[in-house]
Amino acid sequence: MKELPRELLEDLQRVKGFDEGPFIEAHRHAASTSVRLHPIKGASLFRDEERVPWCGTGRYLPHRPVFTLDPLFHAGAYYVQEASSMFLEHLIRSLLPDRNNLRVLDLCAAPGGKSTLLASLLDDSSLLISNEVIRTRASILEENVIRWGYTNNWVTGNDPRDFAELPGYFDLIVVDAPCSGSGLFRKDERAMDEWSEANVALCSQRQQRILADVWPALKQDGILIYATCSYSPQEDEEMLDWLMKSFDIVPLEVTVPGSWGIVTASSDHGSKGYRFFPDKVKGEGFFIAAFQKKETGATLRQPKFKAVNDKMTQQQAAHLLNDKQYLFFQADKETYNAIYPQHEADWHLLKEAVYLRKLGLNIGNPSQKEWLPSHDTALSLDRNKALPAIELNKDQALHFMKKEEISIPALAKGWYLVTFEGAGLGWIKSIGTRFNNYLPKHWRIRMDLPPTDWA
Ligand code: SAM
Repeated sequence: MKELPRELLEDLQRVKGFDEGPFIEAHRHAASTSVRLHPIKGASLFRDEERVPWCGTGRYLPHRPVFTLDPLFHAGAYYVQEASSMFLEHLIRSLLPDRNNLRVLDLCAAPGGKSTLLASLLDDSSLLISNEVIRTRASILEENVIRWGYTNNWVTGNDPRDFAELPGYFDLIVVDAPCSGSGLFRKDERAMDEWSEANVALCSQRQQRILADVWPALKQDGILIYATCSYSPQEDEEMLDWLMKSFDIVPLEVTVPGSWGIVTASSDHGSKGYRFFPDKVKGEGFFIAAFQKKETGATLRQPKFKAVNDKMTQQQAAHLLNDKQYLFFQADKETYNAIYPQHEADWHLLKEAVYLRKLGLNIGNPSQKEWLPSHDTALSLDRNKALPAIELNKDQALHFMKKEEISIPALAKGWYLVTFEGAGLGWIKSIGTRFNNYLPKHWRIRMDLPPTDWA
């Protein structure tokens, strides 16, 4: 392990809970590996593994497997996530015991750790908007959200300032801000080369800008959660002070058992932040705090619109989904989408303000001569569970995920969902003598698979 930056260690002397010796020692050890189970697809996995204390579905793994070679990873049965950041679950459960009818924004969402966690905690009546401004990262976010399978998790690709078009719309905004990244030094040593005091200062300015830009979109009494993976007080406690000085806002606190090893830090203005040091918790560096907005401000008028439901698509697509209520409509040239009816007004509001990359569940285009069921439906929690399906063994599942031909007994012509341990992976089409693999190209496994008999 490289030497930790001296300026960082000096700066941390003033931070509550910082113990230089144990902190440096912790950086001589590798980061632990943890996953968060999908509450439905992955409920029975990793039963015997150690639990992450602050997250019901968090598990530590004794070593790091090659996740790419596990079909359940591709099915979205679990998400590989650093344990400290799973603390968001404890905050949400404590601050929002009822998670119905909420409008939630995860502003800096790629690759999707916090979003998949939030999606698992929200009721269907709530709507989660996962946003990422950097386009290449937004496609990774979109893939992870599709894999997690929630119809009420939509994806946008906007700059934070664009959300000012939605004044007072969100009940909860999570800003997991881009930061100088010192909390992840154990996972990525290169971050150490990029670390500098100048970059910490730049990051803290950018964090202020992001928070100020998105502020109007939060409802009065709405909750703002701010998080970083930086140890620097300029990005943590000082940012809480800046929030308290700049806005009409009250700090929120939650109960945290002492045995968890989390340090409760205070800003000068009395707000509390939760600090994770790798010598005190089994996890990486992380900081998180919550506030409630008190200010009144502009609010959105409910839009007037003509009901969109496309009855024809509804009939054509009905067999694909479970028996919940959906609205079906054509959102762009190529695809039709299904959303929950309670989110129709949201769609009209959002499409005027932001760029919607994933809107409800993309079901493909049923009006085409040959309807290709979208890959998204294979991973969706709302898929009809009685669709024709072929269960694959691990070797077949991995070859499917590599977009190769798979050898399975002949089947009547038609579409089949392929599953591994019951979880959907994608679609194949039997053309009598063989099968075509409909996994989208960009989803395929790129690494070489080990020889067949290992599986
Ligand atoms: N929340 C994510 C998760 O749990 O997987 C991690 C988010 S990461 C700490 C910060 C994200 O902010 C990155 O995806 C980055 O691309 C994005 N970002 C970078 N510059 C930004 C900006 N100016 N405004 C908003 N987001 C930005």
